[in-house]
Amino acid sequence: MEPTLDISIVIPLYNEEESLPELIAWIDRVMKSKGWNYEVIMIDDGSKDASWKIITELKTKFPSLRGFSFRRNYGKSAALNVGFEACRGQVVITMDADLQDSPEEIPALYAKIMDEGFDLISGWKKKRYDPLSKTIPTKVFNWATRKLSGIHLHDFNCGLKAYRFDVVKSIEVYGEMHRYIPVLAKWAGYTNIGEQVVQHQARKYGSSKFGLERFINGFLDLLSITFVSRFSKKPMHFFGLLGLIMFKAGGFLALWIIAQKLYITYYLDERAALVTQNPLFYLGLLSMILGTQFFLAGFVAELVSRNAPDRNKYHLKAQTDV
Ligand code: UDP
Ligand code: MG
Repeated sequence: MEPTLDISIVIPLYNEEESLPELIAWIDRVMKSKGWNYEVIMIDDGSKDASWKIITELKTKFPSLRGFSFRRNYGKSAALNVGFEACRGQVVITMDADLQDSPEEIPALYAKIMDEGFDLISGWKKKRYDPLSKTIPTKVFNWATRKLSGIHLHDFNCGLKAYRFDVVKSIEVYGEMHRYIPVLAKWAGYTNIGEQVVQHQARKYGSSKFGLERFINGFLDLLSITFVSRFSKKPMHFFGLLGLIMFKAGGFLALWIIAQKLYITYYLDERAALVTQNPLFYLGLLSMILGTQFFLAGFVAELVSRNAPDRNKYHLKAQTDV
């Protein structure tokens, strides 16, 4: 599939009725000033307010607006995924609907992708207008993500990002993985990832849709995403290795204790204590049982991944003519 427009702007939204008219008018101004062929894709993530009605009304005034409406609230990731599937621009911009990100940033992001050859540019809200209860955990979250993913970004979860067309067509954003799109892109082979400082405004209308639970869930997602990336196609390499090490360590421990007992009884000809009186013996048994469990888990996981429909899904970079 080839891009047919200069730029697509993908906007997931949930109960953002007040912001939408202002947002689209602003984007339209910026796009017109650049003379770009563009589309704005708004994905209404099951809003309970008048957001969808407003989108259908705005459509008559701004024909380059495309709207999608979910039957219920599926989350920001699902909304972004719909936008990524539908978009047709050479450069794809994602932004939040709440006017915290400014459309004025779009030309600079566009230039980074088109002129400087980046695959993905992530916005960096260097100066944030959010409460402290959000900015401090965010710092920790970004640090952990940097360490685990090896991508040097300051602000992974910034809603304002720019992508090359191929990138969004190669990744699938699911669950709550919208926080880790740069990580998904890196695994898909797009390693030229950069960042750009962007302005950030306090929310003008409405309220934030994510509470503090985002940090706990976000951390669990980070663990699973790291695990899945490393081992989902070869789970035995993780479980099998762990299982073998534990089984062997436990086995040696148990054998050693038994050997000691035999040595004392038959060689020294003395009365040895019962092996069951030694706590280490139980530790050895426990380790052997756990090791076997790990091994079996690895085996089952191997069978599962063998049956996964995308077990052999690759994205080619290029191909010669046939
Ligand atoms: N959003 C969404 N679905 C949801 C929650 C949020 O599409 O279930 C949208 C929301 O409307 C906004 C963007 O995701 O456009 C970022 O949400 P929010 O501004 O609440 O997050 P914060 O700025 O507090 O991180
Ligand atoms: Mg916001």
